[in-house]
This record gives sequence, C-alpha cells and structure tokens, in this order.
Amino acid sequence: MTMKKLHTLIIGSGASGLCAAVRLDSLGVAPLAVYTEGLKMGTSLNTGSDKQTYYKLGMYGTEADSPELMAEDLIAGGSVHGDIALAEAAMSVPAFSHLAALGVPFPHDEYGQYIGYKTDHDPKRRATSCGPYTSRDMCRALTAELKRRAISVMEYKNAVRLLKDPETNRCIGAVFADRLTGELEAVLAENVVFAVGGPGGLYATSVYPKVHTGAIGLALEIGAETRNLAESQYGLASLKFRWNVSGSYMQVLPRFVSVDQNGTEREFLREYFSSTAEMYDMIFLKGYQWPFAAGHVPGSSLIDIFTYVETVERGNRVYLDYRSDPEDFDFDSLGEETQLYLTRSNAFGNTPLERLQKMNMPAIELYAAHGIKLESEMLEIAVCAQHNNGGLAADKWWESTNLSHFFPVGEVNGSHGVTRPGGSAFNAGQAGAFRAAERIAGNKSSPLPRNAEKIAEAALSELQHQTNLDAQLDWRKERMEFQQRMSRAGAFIRSAENVTAALSEARQQYQRLLQDGLGGLKPDDYTETLRNRQLCLAHLYYLTSIAEQIKTSGSRGGSIVLSENGIPIHNGLESKWKLAPEDPAYRKKMMLCHAGKDGTPEISWENCREVPHPDGWFETVWKEYREGKLHE
Ligand SMILES: Cc1cc2nc3c(=O)[nH]c(=O)nc-3n(C[C@H](O)[C@H](O)[C@H](O)COP(=O)(O)OP(=O)(O)OC[C@H]3O[C@@H](n4cnc5c(N)ncnc54)[C@H](O)[C@@H]3O)c2cc1C
Repeated sequence: MTMKKLHTLIIGSGASGLCAAVRLDSLGVAPLAVYTEGLKMGTSLNTGSDKQTYYKLGMYGTEADSPELMAEDLIAGGSVHGDIALAEAAMSVPAFSHLAALGVPFPHDEYGQYIGYKTDHDPKRRATSCGPYTSRDMCRALTAELKRRAISVMEYKNAVRLLKDPETNRCIGAVFADRLTGELEAVLAENVVFAVGGPGGLYATSVYPKVHTGAIGLALEIGAETRNLAESQYGLASLKFRWNVSGSYMQVLPRFVSVDQNGTEREFLREYFSSTAEMYDMIFLKGYQWPFAAGHVPGSSLIDIFTYVETVERGNRVYLDYRSDPEDFDFDSLGEETQLYLTRSNAFGNTPLERLQKMNMPAIELYAAHGIKLESEMLEIAVCAQHNNGGLAADKWWESTNLSHFFPVGEVNGSHGVTRPGGSAFNAGQAGAFRAAERIAGNKSSPLPRNAEKIAEAALSELQHQTNLDAQLDWRKERMEFQQRMSRAGAFIRSAENVTAALSEARQQYQRLLQDGLGGLKPDDYTETLRNRQLCLAHLYYLTSIAEQIKTSGSRGGSIVLSENGIPIHNGLESKWKLAPEDPAYRKKMMLCHAGKDGTPEISWENCREVPHPDGWFETVWKEYREGKLHE
C-alpha cells in the first residue's frame, strides 16, 4: 500500500480526461497525473460511427452564429441549465481550435474555413467530422501532446474508491488497485478531475465498447449528486463488432432478416407494413433518424420497436442482409425522398451492398477490418445502449454541485437534457475539460485538510480488512445479472411494473455484493469484484430515476413508457404496446438523484435556469478577469 500527493489528479484517459490534463499543464498546474485503466481503454478511443460527429459553433460562410444562439439550441430539448449550455457553447471555438491545432484532421476549405453539416437537433450546419474515428483521432492527438509535455500517465490503475473529507464534503483523492499486481495506492489531491466516461458496463445489449464499463458508481458511493440519469440514447447497432448501423447502413436499404431457434429465416418487418415500398421508406428514414426517439413513435423509431419485439420478446436473432434485394424490391415505387437521395448519391445497384459500395465504401471496409464480410454474411443487430445524457450534477465550472474540488468532465457529467444535437457529447467533454482546468488554475491554493492522510489510511485498511473474508461470488455472473436487468427494465422500453420488480432485485443484489469478501482473488478478479460494487450501486440510481420518470414526465427523449391507459402504438403490435404521453411541463425541470439520509437514492427536482444574456462592457469584464474575480 502506497500513498502519493498531487495538486490535481485526473482519473480517466478518454478525450475529456486527456484534454483536461493538457489544459491544466498549460495553465501551470503541478504536480498532476493521469491515472487510468489504460490509454487503450474507454469509449473515445474504441468507438465510432459511419461519420462520427463533433458539434461546434458555426465557422463557415455567411450563416451567423454566436455562443448564445448555440446555447439556445443546446437547451431546446429541455431539462438543461442555460448557464451551463452557454459555457459549453462559449468554449466550443477554443476547444475545437485546440484540437485542430494539435493536428486532429477536421476538414476545412482552401481559405481555412471549417466546413460543417447539419446533425440531429441542429438548425445550423455546426457539425463536423474526421470520418468514422473522430474521437480516436482526438485521443491520439491529445496523447501525443501529453507526451510532449511529459505529463505523468499511470496505466493499469483502477480507481476503486474515491476519498472524501466528511467534515467539509470535499473530494481529496482516490484509491487505485493496480490491475497487474493488485497493489493498492492512495493518491491525495487538492482537486480531482473525474473523466471516467459513460455507464457502458451497465447494459447487456450495448454498443459501448466491451473494454469500457465507466465508474460513476464511485462518485455515488461518496454521495455525489446526479442529474437526468433517466435520459439515455439507444439505437440499432451490430453485436459481433459493436458499431452503430446509422446513416448509409440504412439508406442503402438492407433486408431485415429474423432467424428463429430452428434456423428459419423471414423478413419480419413485412408483417407491420401495408406495402414493401412503405417498409423501405421507413428503413431509409431510420438512417438519419438513428437514435431511438419517443418523438418518432409512430415514425422511423417503429423499426427499433419491431426489432426489439423480434429479439427480446420472441427470442429470435435479427440480421441486416446486404447481399440481395427481395423479388418485389422496386426502386420506382419508393418515396420521393428515398429515390432522390439514392439518385443524388449515385447509389444504384442490384443489391444493398452494391449501393453501399457506391455510397460509402469505408463502411464496408470497416466491417471487413473486423472480420465481417458483408458480401458473404449477414450482420447481427439489436437496439443497444449508446450514451447517457445525464450523469453527475455540476455547476458552470464543471465542479460537482455537492462535493467540492471534484470535477466530473466528459460523459460522466450530466450536462445534456432530454435530447442533444448529435456530436455535442464531444464538445461538452472538451468544454468541460477547459472549464475545470481554468477553475482549478484560478482557485487560490486550497491545501488538503489535515486529516487527509488518516482518511486515506482508513480507506486502505478497510479494503485490506475485507480480504480477511474470501470472495464467494462469481463477478462475471453477478455482472451479467445487473446488465441483463438494465437491458430488460432500464433501457428504451420502460414500464412501472418492470422497473418496480427490477428495483427490488437490484437492492438485494447490491446488499449481496457488499456482504461478500475480497479474499483469495487474483489482481484482475479483485479489481472486477470491486468494480461490480460501484456498477451495481449505479444501476440502483439509474432504476430509481427511471421509476420516477415513469411516474412524472412519461415518454420522451430516447425512451418510451408503456401504460395500460396509453395510446396504442401500432396495430401490428400486441395490446400492451400503449404509449404513456409526455408531460411537457417536466422539460422545464431537472431530476436530481442523490443519497438520502439512510444512504439510499432519493429524488428531488430543480427548475432549469435560463440562458444568461450578459451585455458586458469590455473594460469591466477585463478588470474582473485580471483581478481573478471570476473565481471568488
Ligand atoms: C458507438 C458510439 C458512437 C458515438 N458517436 C458519437 C458521436 O458521433 N459524437 C459524439 O459527440 N459522441 C458520440 N458518442 C459518445 C462519445 O463517444 C462519448 O460520450 C465520449 O467518447 C466519452 O468520452 P469520455 O472522455 O467522457 O470517456 P471515455 O472515452 O469513455 O474515457 C473514460 C476513461 O476513463 C477510464 N476509466 C473508467 N473507469 C475507470 C476507473 N475505475 N479507474 C481508472 N480509469 C477508469 C477509462 O479507461 C477511459 O480511459 C458515441 C458513443 C458510442 C458508444
């Protein structure tokens, strides 16, 4: 067991943690270090889509844009604080330019104008992309900068406990288990930047990379407040290699094939549509309305529901088949929009694959690079968990609302609301890193409390003590249990009955995990056993928030609520498929979830703050800035 002291500790090396480290270093904060499971882990490095999107302020042509205009669009979906949205929008240009200057290949024209396109929930052309691997490009450029700056990176370190001074409610560091040796290390720090990503490890049906689990539960263990946990995104994705099948994967009109336990194949979508053309038009629309959306039911999100019925309720497997068109496929009978798009893209061909070859060859090569040949095999898909719009609650400097010196940045920070413009997760991660770094650098020295070492020693010896009792539970089985529970009751199809049952099972499982020992485990199993505890606690918080959402706001954003008194969704679905309408009043509120007096999750609400419209005067803003008044 060892102990170290830093000025600032960064946990996590995704795009947001790396950016925070670079910014802190450039603002002169030292000593600092990044502690991470590994530079090859996390979502940013290991994921993408056909055109992975980065949302930024408009910087092209004559279309006017400004931080306030962008902030209004960031809050448009509801349940977002305006001041945080304004900070995210204001940081957009510096954060984007930082990445571009570090060599991230965002495309620009011959004059240096960064071109953009429209993404979902985006009224302007603010989105940009480097191709399928934008976030990987970001990570690589940032990692190279960390190396140039010789910022210390500690790999194979799993945070297993956050340290808090209970008297001041301040975060003072973390305990790490070394994945290779099992050795415990306490790191005390004046500030902790918590960049551990989204809750990928909570779902069985997931497009988060397999290597990414997230660690929001560590913050919940020490009582950090959360916001909007019930707001997540789900969408169609391939399973063998986890990848979103958005955009051109749908627009080239593949066949949706279901295979039952006997191996019998059928095009299951046909039973829901009155004509082949109607079915194909809906598949086409699914391409650019990729995430499941309550607002697209009825509409293109029916495709997700029909896929869910086929996989989850009927127990069949669903595949996309690009190898052939059915006999009744008739280009001329397709809707105008579908025909126009395929014509303009010059995407003609006798099979979906031929159309995809013309429209987006890299989309085929990507699967080939992962051992999947679309020309000779079908691609298995399901509706997968992809992103959490909610997360830990923080202020406009990305400091936790109830835990001082603790800065959740990146996906673990719940700055988004019911919906968000596609690509704004990356912007929020970089903006948060900039803001947290500026706050930390701007704060006068804030020495650790005198009892900090004692708190760390107590945590270390408590963990040590737990090794006196041998572990009885199999962490893999336990993990599968809560992942399956979340995919069943806490994903995009929700009902009061399911969530109530899931909550009761979740509480029992959490108690069971807490009572088990930590003795006799190999280093890797020790880490995963501890990880299960925080993930299991996290799923209790998510389910609690979802139960409240079912009672209050109803169907909205990335999920729908089924209710006996709801509106029938589609006449091809069973009678239980009735949608509880949304109560729009809740778009002006934010759901918080935090530890109550007895330590169990408790809900409260706060009203959304408006976007501020400061009409500043340069000399006064400059003076306040010069005098460090921003951080008083
Ligand atoms: C398929 C897919 C497509 C996406 N497409 C887009 C898109 O087009 N545009 C967009 O804006 N967003 C997109 N997203 C979302 C976006 O990728 C993530 O929100 C973002 O990459 C998260 O970055 P991060 O830095 O917060 O976390 P991550 O990149 O996940 O990094 C987390 C880091 O924390 C470390 N860590 C976790 N737990 C611990 C622990 N206990 N101890 C030590 N280290 C730990 C991890 O190892 C990792 O280094 C997509 C997501 C998916 C899954």
